[in-house]
Amino acid sequence: MKRVAVIGGGVGGMTAAGELAQRGHQVTLFERSASLGGKAQAVTASGVQLDTGPTLLTLPHVVREGFRRLNAEDLLPRFIELPVHCEYRWLDGARFEAHRDLELTAASAERLKAGEGEAVRAFYAAAADIHRVAGEPYLEAPFYGALEYLMRVARRGLGALWKGSQLPTLDALGTAHFSSRHLREFVGRFATYAGASPYQASAAFALIPHLERAFGVHHVVGGMGALSVALGQAVERLGVKLQLGATASWREQRGELLVGPEGDAQRFDAVVVNADPLASLGRADEPLALSGYVLLLEAERSALPHHTITFAADYPAELNALFAGGAPDDVTFYVCHPAASDASMAPAGKSGLFVMVNAAPLSAAVDWAEAAPRLREKCLAHVRELGARDVKVLGERTPLDLARAGAPRGSIYGFLPHGRLGPFRRPRIRSRVPGLFYSGGGTHPGGGVPLVMLSGHFAAHLASQHLEARA
Ligand SMILES: Cc1cc2nc3c(=O)[nH]c(=O)nc-3n(C[C@H](O)[C@H](O)[C@H](O)COP(=O)(O)OP(=O)(O)OC[C@H]3O[C@@H](n4cnc5c(N)ncnc54)[C@H](O)[C@@H]3O)c2cc1C
Repeated sequence: MKRVAVIGGGVGGMTAAGELAQRGHQVTLFERSASLGGKAQAVTASGVQLDTGPTLLTLPHVVREGFRRLNAEDLLPRFIELPVHCEYRWLDGARFEAHRDLELTAASAERLKAGEGEAVRAFYAAAADIHRVAGEPYLEAPFYGALEYLMRVARRGLGALWKGSQLPTLDALGTAHFSSRHLREFVGRFATYAGASPYQASAAFALIPHLERAFGVHHVVGGMGALSVALGQAVERLGVKLQLGATASWREQRGELLVGPEGDAQRFDAVVVNADPLASLGRADEPLALSGYVLLLEAERSALPHHTITFAADYPAELNALFAGGAPDDVTFYVCHPAASDASMAPAGKSGLFVMVNAAPLSAAVDWAEAAPRLREKCLAHVRELGARDVKVLGERTPLDLARAGAPRGSIYGFLPHGRLGPFRRPRIRSRVPGLFYSGGGTHPGGGVPLVMLSGHFAAHLASQHLEARA
C-alpha cells in the first residue's frame, strides 16, 4: 500500500483520489476550503437551489463511467436531457434554437435565414469529422507529447492527419459555413466554453457542438453541486482521508515528496495536484483564459427556457475588449433557469436564475469594486427584459472570488488554448518531477466537469504506473 496525497478537492482531485483509493492506495486529500467541489458547488437560498459554477453537463457517459470506476453508481444523481439545448437571441430580434434533433436545429436556422438549414447540416457533419480526426485522439488517453498524439491521429488514416493539420480558427470555420453573422456567433460561442476567443482558437473547438448533439445537453437533478456532493461521498466511502480547511503544498527533498500544510509536511510516494499548474510550472505570466461574473437571482416563476444566450450588439468587439483585459459595456448574457426542467430546484411559484457574463482575468485595468455593481444592474435589467418579475438578488461571484478560491487571476480555465498548436502547450498531467501529477481544468484534456473527471482518471492511471514501477 503506497501513500498518495491529493492537493485540492475539485472534481478532478476527487476523481483521482477515489480511483487511487480504489486501486488499493492509502490516499489523503487536502482541501483548503471547508467543502469539496471547488468551482462545482451550489447554494440554497429562500428555498431556491442554484449552482454557483457549472450548470450544463455534456458527455454524461464520461461522468457515469467515472462513478462506475469508483463503484458509486448508486450515488450518482439523475440527469435530465434537455430537448432544446439553448435558445440564442440577438438584439435585432433574431432567434435561433439548438436542439438535440438536428432537423429541428436546421429548421430553426432556415427560419433565421433561407439556406442556413442546409448550412447547419454541413456544419455539424464537419464538426463530427473534426471530432473524429482531432477530438477522439485527444480525449482517449493522456497527452504524452505532440508526436505520440499525431501517431494516434494517423491511426485514423493519413487523411485525418492532413485534415487535422489544416484546421483554421473556429470563427473561420463558422464563416466558411454560414452567411448569417448570427450563426457565425453561435459557432464562435463554443470557444468561450474553454475561456478562449473564436478569432484565435482552433476550429477543433467545433467538437463541442458535435458532442452536445451526439450525447445531449443535460441537467443534473439538484444541480452540478449535487454531483460534487455525490463524488465526495464516493471518495469518503472508498476510505480517502479528507483534510478540509487544509492548505497544502508539496516539495521535493532528496528524491522524496513532502506534502502537507505549512509545518506539517509528511512523506508521500506520489502526489496529485488539483490546483492550477501554471504557477508551479513558472508559467504564471502567460495570457490566461477568461474569467466570469455570476449573479444568482430569485424571481416569480418564469417561463424562460433552461438556457438562454443573448449576444452583445457587437460580439467581436466584446471579445476583443475582454482579451485586451478590459470590461466592455456591451456584453453577452447567459441565463440558466434550472426550474424550467427540474421543479425541485425552486419552491412552487418561484424560479432561480443564474446569470453569467464573460470577464477578463484580473488585471489593474478593471476595478471590481466599480465593475461589479455596473454588471449587476445590467444583468438585472436583462432578466427583466426577458420577462422575469419580482427579481431579488441571492448572491454574486466576481473574478475576485474565483481568485480567492485559487484560480489564477480568477481565470476559470487557466491555460489559454489560442493558436493552432495551442492545445499542445497545455500543461501535462505527468510533471517533470517523478511522482508528481496534475489533475483538473488546468491540465489535459481541459476544463469542464466531464473533462476534469477524465483528467482525474488519467492522473490516477499515471500515478499508479509510477507507484507500481517503484514497488
Ligand atoms: C462560473 C462557472 C461556470 C462554469 N460552467 C460550466 C458548465 O456549464 N459546464 C462544465 O462542465 N463546466 C463549467 N465550468 C467549469 C468547471 O466548473 C471546472 O472546469 C471544474 O469544476 C474544475 O474542476 P477542477 O478539478 O479543475 O478543480 P477546481 O474546481 O478548480 O478545484 C480545485 C480545488 O483545489 C483547492 N485548492 C487549491 N489550492 C489548494 C491548496 N494549496 N491546498 C488545498 N486545496 C487547494 C481549491 O480550494 C479547490 O477546491 C464552469 C466554471 C465556472 C467557475
